[in-house]
Amino acid sequence: MEILLAENAGFCFGVRRALEMAEQATRDHPRVFSLGPLIHNRQVVERLAAQGLVVCAGMGEVPSGALAMIRAHGAGPEVYEQAQARGITLLDATCPFVARVHQKAADFAERGYRVLVLGDPNHPEAQGIVAHTGGQAVIVESPEDLRALRLPSRVAVVCQTTQTLEALRALVDALLPQVSELVVANTICDATAKRQEESLRLARQVDLMIVIGGYHSANTRRLAEICAGTGTPTHHIEDAAELQDEWLRGVRTVGVTAGASTPGEAIAAVVRRLQEMAAAADEK
Ligand code: SF4
Repeated sequence: MEILLAENAGFCFGVRRALEMAEQATRDHPRVFSLGPLIHNRQVVERLAAQGLVVCAGMGEVPSGALAMIRAHGAGPEVYEQAQARGITLLDATCPFVARVHQKAADFAERGYRVLVLGDPNHPEAQGIVAHTGGQAVIVESPEDLRALRLPSRVAVVCQTTQTLEALRALVDALLPQVSELVVANTICDATAKRQEESLRLARQVDLMIVIGGYHSANTRRLAEICAGTGTPTHHIEDAAELQDEWLRGVRTVGVTAGASTPGEAIAAVVRRLQEMAAAADEK
């Protein structure tokens, strides 16, 4: 059995940067408060917790005067305001690509456009983008959501960075007949787009796809959807222990990809386990 590993699987620039900032901060300070789990990976979160990174649900749980960290997903302006009011020092690990979406959305809102954010309404990144428009923007997951909206004549679209180009195209196609002025900022992150294209290519050439990453990771879930969409059997797993022998029955090539918050160790462990399973199947 051949195992093909996607070239860009694993940590993206923004996640790596946030992790390095957290590592450094926990070396310099006994306790650092992270506004939500830093990444969607249990092992990494546990390791950082042992080093003094305390995960909290929001600013309400951060003691006044403490050091708090904003994740790569970013946060709304209210977080910065609360920090200033309560003497909380912020370590801002907002990915520069996410910060760019904040700027674009705020700029469109200021220029009088109704801003639509293509994204997941439950995802903190999408919520943060809305907050940067003063709450004016609306999150839409698909063209179907447009039915519930009364759109003005001037509309602007930005995307949560993990969206697909296909989803953006579908939204733009649906909007064009409805509005007289449409501006679109393709804010899909390059790292995401690359990972998605590569996974799609890989899924089309293998018998089975394994997608590694946290079940709560939006970009990993998106990768699994894209791979499954090709018709190739696809399994989204968090770690090597979840691999099942029956998945490999009759399989000659396996593609492996991983979300942006999946550590290299987790990917290596899956590849190792697949090799062991393939060797055990050969011996039978
Ligand atoms: S996926 Fe892109 S936007 Fe998101 S953290 Fe990584 S580099 Fe930044």
